[in-house]
Amino acid sequence: MRIILYRRAYRTMIRYGTELSRPQKESAGVLFGEPTHEYIKIYYAEYLKIGEHAFVELEPTDILRSYIKSEILGTKLVGIYHTHPDFGVTPSSIDLKTMKIIWDISPNAVMIILDPLQQDIKNKIAAYVSSKRGNIYKIPVEIRW
Ligand SMILES: [Zn+2]
Repeated sequence: MRIILYRRAYRTMIRYGTELSRPQKESAGVLFGEPTHEYIKIYYAEYLKIGEHAFVELEPTDILRSYIKSEILGTKLVGIYHTHPDFGVTPSSIDLKTMKIIWDISPNAVMIILDPLQQDIKNKIAAYVSSKRGNIYKIPVEIRW
């Protein structure tokens, strides 16, 4: 399993993660695309919210609204993203709890964490999915320019 992330979606996450996140606040949103057995394509990211320095939360109503929007757009809601400005792409304990709730409802959802202030592309973005047993694991992200 891997992620194919299209530039447009990547740019949306970076743009809202930097321009709107001063002073270094987290931002969060949803990801639209196409899931298959081998990969998840992410065509669009939609910014929804700004949070605190190390906390941002999407409400169930945000997810529901995005789900309805995906139907209208003729695409799928494939996951959520949020930023960790300048503190890396490892999930926090809150992130893990949030994803356990989401994975109960939607086992194939992906969680992307992005550090918009990180210069090194390898440590700038990470994608996490759930195994069938419910363990979290990191999968490769390919940015398609
Ligand atoms: Zn986080």
